[in-house]
Amino acid sequence: MNTKATHRTEGIVLKTLNYSDSDLIVTFYTRDFGKLTAIAKGARKSKKRFVNVLEPFCCSSLLFFRKQRDQLAWLESCQCINEYPEIRKSLDRTLLASYFIDLVDHFSLEEKAEIKLFKLLYTFLSLIEEGDTSERLLRFFEIRHLKITGYAPALDRCLICNAPLNSQQRYVFSITHGGLHCLSCSSASAAPGVLPISVGTIRTLQLGTEIETDKMKRILFSGQTARESKSLLTLFIGHILGKELKSMKVLDEVQRMRI
Ligand SMILES: [Zn+2]
Repeated sequence: MNTKATHRTEGIVLKTLNYSDSDLIVTFYTRDFGKLTAIAKGARKSKKRFVNVLEPFCCSSLLFFRKQRDQLAWLESCQCINEYPEIRKSLDRTLLASYFIDLVDHFSLEEKAEIKLFKLLYTFLSLIEEGDTSERLLRFFEIRHLKITGYAPALDRCLICNAPLNSQQRYVFSITHGGLHCLSCSSASAAPGVLPISVGTIRTLQLGTEIETDKMKRILFSGQTARESKSLLTLFIGHILGKELKSMKVLDEVQRMRI
C-alpha cells in the first residue's frame, strides 16, 4: 500500500544541512519520535513556509509525513513555539546552547523517543534564555543528560567494595569504570583515567541530578566543585563518545580567554 502517514509533534532544531539549491535537511529532537531527520522542501528558496523556524535551538510544533517508518520524513509545516531570541543575541548563551544541542545530537539515536530528554533540553534552553550561563547549569545539564541516556556515573558507592558514600572516606573517580573507588580500595590513585574527587563535589553532583530545576540556583557551587566536576564530566563524556565535541572545545576556549 502506498499511503502517507501524517504525524504531529514538537521538536527542537539540532542542526541543518543544505540539500540541493532549494531544500534543507533538518535534524530535530522531538517529544514523541526522539531524534528525527526531515527534509524541508523549498526552505532555502522561499522563507514563507518555514519563516525563522529552522534555526538551531528553535522549538516548533511540526507536521510531517512519510510512507514508512524507515523512510525520510517530509516536513509539511512548522509553527514556532519558542525561538529563544535572547540566546541568539549573546555569544555566551549561543555557545552554551550549541553545546547542549550537540550533546543531545551525539548521544541520541534516530526515532528512539525519550520524552525526558526533550523536556531536559527545552527546560535548560529556557534557563539560558533567561540569562543563566553558569558553570552550575552546564554541569547539571551534563549529569542529567548522562542519567537520562543511561550513562549515569556511579556516585553513591565504591565500585570495588560496594560501601556506600561516606564523608569520612576519600575517593577517586575512574573514567573507564564510570564511578567511584574509595582510596582504601584504589591502589592507583594517580593512574591515568583516575581523578581525585571530594565528597562535597560528589554530593553536589548527586543533588544537581535530582533537584527541581527552579531550585538549582540555591545549590552552592564552589571553585573546587567547579574544577573537579569539569574534569570528571568532560573526560567521562569524551570517553563515552570517543572524542571531544567541537562545541565543548569552543566553549572552553572562549571561557579560558576571559579568565
Ligand atoms: Zn572501596
